[in-house]
Amino acid sequence: MNYYSTQKKAPIVSLKEAVVRGLAPDRGLYMPERIEALPASFFEEIEHMSLQDIACRVAQAFFGEDIPTEDLEKIVRDTLSFDIPLKKVKDSIYALELFHGPTLAFKDVGGRFMARLLRYLMQTDDGKRVNVLVATSGDTGSAVANGFLGVEGIHVYVLYPKGKVSEVQEKQFASLGQNCTAVAIDGTFDDCQALVKSAFMDSELNKKLTLTSANSINVARFLPQSFYYFYAYAQWKKLHRNKELVVCVPSGNLGNITAGLFAKRMGLPIQRFIAANNRNDMFFQYLQTGNALPKPSVVTIENAMDVGDPSNFERVVDLYGKQHSAIVKDISGVSYTDEQIAETMKATFSEENYVLDPHGACGMRALHEKLQPGEDGIFLETAHPAKFLDRVEPILGVPVPMPERLAWFLKREVCSVPLSTDYAAFRAFLLQ
Ligand SMILES: *Cc1c(COP(=O)(O)O)cnc(C)c1O
Repeated sequence: MNYYSTQKKAPIVSLKEAVVRGLAPDRGLYMPERIEALPASFFEEIEHMSLQDIACRVAQAFFGEDIPTEDLEKIVRDTLSFDIPLKKVKDSIYALELFHGPTLAFKDVGGRFMARLLRYLMQTDDGKRVNVLVATSGDTGSAVANGFLGVEGIHVYVLYPKGKVSEVQEKQFASLGQNCTAVAIDGTFDDCQALVKSAFMDSELNKKLTLTSANSINVARFLPQSFYYFYAYAQWKKLHRNKELVVCVPSGNLGNITAGLFAKRMGLPIQRFIAANNRNDMFFQYLQTGNALPKPSVVTIENAMDVGDPSNFERVVDLYGKQHSAIVKDISGVSYTDEQIAETMKATFSEENYVLDPHGACGMRALHEKLQPGEDGIFLETAHPAKFLDRVEPILGVPVPMPERLAWFLKREVCSVPLSTDYAAFRAFLLQ
């Protein structure tokens, strides 16, 4: 399968080139040339299939032409070494718990898949070192760094906004050592993302170093996220057959929802999507007005959604042939303040005894407000609440139990390289 750039000014490339490049040379995002519709028989039997079997079938549609089935299935099964259960939270509302992986956020799926795919694609290029650059607002860095940890021939640089990620998030990517270097940028997430983009656009630098991005601009990160939409449907189908299904995605860079839109395009019967924004509401505004106006990001308690200029916006627009009217048929938006989100966390805890993390709470609130009679809703619970103890405990007023694999990280020491937002300094650092 070949990949084209959303800007349409760069050559069509192979899977390997799309994954290694990350961003197209015209600054566009790569899109697969075709999106295969899966047969009706697959959806008829899906509720009897495991997560791994469903994911293998979906992966075949994207990567089957490029990777022999046996190798692809190994990558998929290694990636999905944990469950993604659907839990009922209240009438008509279900949480897809995406936090059962090693770093307790949905980004484990894309991060682990990309690490395995990149290693597979690079195995023919002996001795070449690939440098993976990743900007993180918290969860991407840990999923990517842990996904790549110890993988030979690959070095990961995690750029994060200093002081703007939680303690445990920082420890999950900045305490690893080995082939993972954490870089603390004195700025915002958008500054980190801009530094990474500048490095990719720097043709002199790219002659000296093989650079790739593990942000959701990378096709190997975002495409595998479609797997769990199919699995969510399979679990829901076991329970219901006669309602319309709405899926709500707490959104930042829009990588997660884009994967869901791909799943729908492949035939997955999701009636509509809700994109839940916090106060960083560029996408919400676009859905209302048709105008996309990037803004500087503002800090909220849902820090992984603090994105002022979402990178996958271009993919959404491209997928719908730039038709705003078609986009708003499939997706509606909401935007909530921290106060509203905290209120939902409190109410859901006291009424349903379910502990939400702030990101998932944004999605839960949207379903609670926007679900119509005759519809069931699934929201993506994108991370474990214990990743944000400093916010969740004061809001709920009770201690949140800490899963063991998270407690393990907390005991570790942070070791990161401090840098400013100056590109020349970052460039020099990469070259040293
Ligand atoms: C990354 C992240 C999001 C936002 O996902 P996008 O794909 O960037 O839209 C939401 N919640 C959590 C917990 C995250 O880590």
